[in-house]
Parts: sequence; C-alpha cells; structure tokens
Amino acid sequence: MMDATRPSIDVHVHLHPPRLADAISRHFAGIGWRPVHGWAPDAVASTLREHGVDRFCCFSYAHRPGIARAINAWMAKAGRTLPGAIPFGTVHTDDPDCAEVAREALHDLGLAGLKIHCSVQRIAPDDPRLVPVYEAVLGAGRVMMLHAGTLPYRDEHTGIERVRPVMARFPELPVCIAHLGAHEHRAFLELTDEYPNLYVDTTMALAGPAKEYVAAEPDAVSNDEIVRHQDRILFGSDFPLLPYPYEEERRWAVSRGLSEDVQRKIFYGNAVRFLRLAV
Ligand SMILES: [Zn+2]
Repeated sequence: MMDATRPSIDVHVHLHPPRLADAISRHFAGIGWRPVHGWAPDAVASTLREHGVDRFCCFSYAHRPGIARAINAWMAKAGRTLPGAIPFGTVHTDDPDCAEVAREALHDLGLAGLKIHCSVQRIAPDDPRLVPVYEAVLGAGRVMMLHAGTLPYRDEHTGIERVRPVMARFPELPVCIAHLGAHEHRAFLELTDEYPNLYVDTTMALAGPAKEYVAAEPDAVSNDEIVRHQDRILFGSDFPLLPYPYEEERRWAVSRGLSEDVQRKIFYGNAVRFLRLAV
C-alpha cells in the first residue's frame, strides 16, 4: 500500500459524458478488458479519494469532429462538482474553428489544459492545424496532455518523430506524454533533457498487469532511468479504465525500492510544478 499520509496527484484519469463512456466500455469489453471500475464521475472521484489521491487530472477526447465543445462544457461542469478534479478539454482538428474551441475551453471554461489522444482521434501531434491550439495553450499558461507514444500500437499519428517538431517549435510548451512515451520510453525520457517543460506520465507503463492488456514492457524501464529523470515523471493511472485494481498502478514504486524523495516527486511534487498548482 501507498503511504496514505503522502500527498498524491494522479494526472491521468478518464471521465466521459455518459453515452461516450458506454461506447468506450463496450469497445474495451470487446477486446477483453474486464470492467473493474464504474464510470460515474462521483464514484470515480470518491474512489480516488479513498485511495489517498488528493487531486486528479480528468479528460475525455473528441473521436470525431463536432463534439469537442459539448465534451468540454460537460467536463467543466463535472469538474466543478467533483472534489479534487482538475478538468481538461479537448479539440478536434477537423473542426474548422478548433483554435476557437481551444480558447473557449481555456479562457471561458477555465479548463486546465487540453488532451489529445493521437491514436483514437487520428490526429498527429505535428498536424499544422494544432499550431494555433498550442499557441492558445501557451498563451493561457496551461498544459497539453498528449497520448503520442506507440503503446498499445504504432500508427501514423504517434511516435517520437511526430513529437520532436512540436517541441522544437514550442520549446516552452508544457507537455505531458502519456504512458511514459512507451514503446519509445527511452527516446522520450532523453527528449526531456532538451526541454524543461516536457514530462511523461507512468500510466500503464510500469504496472505488471498492464503487460497483458497493452503489451506494456515495465521490465524495459530501468530504475536508473527513473532516477535519472525523476523530475519529469508524473504518476498517472488510466483510472477508471484500467482493468485491474488501482493499487497495481502504484505498486511498482515500492517494489522497485525507489527512495521516498523520488516517490514524492513522481506522485506529487512534479505534478504541482507541471500544472502550476497553488499548494
Ligand atoms: Zn488514458
């Protein structure tokens, strides 16, 4: 078990409007994921609290054009009622006004940043239509959450070579790459050496049971790498999607014998800095 007295922030939690949550549940049930946790936002927030999580970033994604605005409005409303929630918005580049959607999400709705799931949304990080979106995020002092790695599968929208141009153009942009950038975790961790605002999250990349579901390779990530990049790694879980108990997403930190100082950074301090939280 985690030390319940240690503060904890989970930067990777999914909340979806009910119909979208149902569709996503059916999809994952169809590929053999056991639904272990429910999607009801209240239950998500209270379960996280029971696990000692103080704050959590929550996001959905627009898998097609025309729905980002409604998702963002729903997320902002849900976020206001859930203790500890840090709600994020999304955009879809096929929406001709996607930069305006981004500005509304950040300024009018006050969302903490934007999430893009590059594979599901079929949007590459270096899509030129995202340039004004990144400018809006940077201008608003917010952050990007990108599922841009090749776990669970490589496609034309993911991979480090599609992230490098974004960081080269927007070196100041705070970006968190989901899933430790796996299966290219080493290259993503090395890229954090070049860009002080680039982070990765641990979601389903270090937990043993994730091997079965997303072909994660936790054994490929060494303790030395984690310690070397200890200031840029954020704890995330994929809750409530993850098809195994929540605690599995944290167990690795203890079983790897990481120091209390390193654990405190990964589970809390780095997220405070990345998200610019007032504590
Ligand atoms: Zn996720």
